[in-house]
Amino acid sequence: MEKRWTLNDFEIGRPLGRGKFGHVYLAREKKSNHIVAMKVLSKSQLKKSQVEHQIRREVEIQSHLRHPNILRLYGYFYDQTRVYLILEHAPKGELYKELQRRKYFSERRAATYMSSLARALIYLHGKHVIHRDIKPENLLLGAQGEIKIADFGWSVHTFDRRKTMCGTLDYLPPEMVESVDHDASVDIWSLGVLCYEFLYGVPPFEAKEHSETYRRIRKVDLKFPSKPIVSSAAKELISQMLVKESSQRLPFNKLLEHPWIVQNADLSGIC
Ligand code: ATP
Ligand code: MG
Repeated sequence: MEKRWTLNDFEIGRPLGRGKFGHVYLAREKKSNHIVAMKVLSKSQLKKSQVEHQIRREVEIQSHLRHPNILRLYGYFYDQTRVYLILEHAPKGELYKELQRRKYFSERRAATYMSSLARALIYLHGKHVIHRDIKPENLLLGAQGEIKIADFGWSVHTFDRRKTMCGTLDYLPPEMVESVDHDASVDIWSLGVLCYEFLYGVPPFEAKEHSETYRRIRKVDLKFPSKPIVSSAAKELISQMLVKESSQRLPFNKLLEHPWIVQNADLSGIC
């Protein structure tokens, strides 16, 4: 698909949603009849908010990823006023809405999502990419209900970071060398928060005031309500991900071997 696309190659259909910097539409590539989601961003708005670099990074990172649980970015083009991102269409829409509808997920569904996400994040981290913004709003659902990680606006390529931090690695102290791996564990924490939210319908450190949420996060003030009823295996897994010391968080390969995942997850990712 290394082709120079233009708007003329597509027939634009109904709106799928609205983002901060533009709209997303259903679209059909005329020659192949391929259905895609077209994200249309306003250049002037991107400039005004100084997020051009963020979009460029999103495109550079996402366009190189190939995984069934990561939303594909097929390509992009632009004209005088707008930037167009050609994305894989996720027919079942936002996971966030599904969670709102159901209030909370069954252990089977939650474990299936967690297993898919862990495999996608192992793939990402293997490519030295950290997503940094895993949350229900950034997860979409494929035709068969498989989960897809979208929105790479906050992601980073850890090699780039090393490069920009210092020209050579030779003078890096251990904590800086380790920080690259350490940083990857932010995605483990997020996945722990997500698992809790899947099973209870609310995030774990929620509070009325922002300052209180901060305090609860800092303390890792993790409490499990008595309802809905959640198995102790699930609670144990969540507790192993929501650990203050980042190097002590359960790595994704261990998560996949955890009894709760092994016994509940559907490996097809379909639910
Ligand atoms: P924000 O920063 O506010 O999240 P954004 O600019 O990142 O916005 P997206 O979240 O990517 O925009 O898209 C906005 C909405 O459009 C999504 O919440 C979703 O409902 C819909 N949408 C986006 N991409 C797709 C897709 N590939 N398939 C189906 N729906 C999509
Ligand atoms: Mg978004």
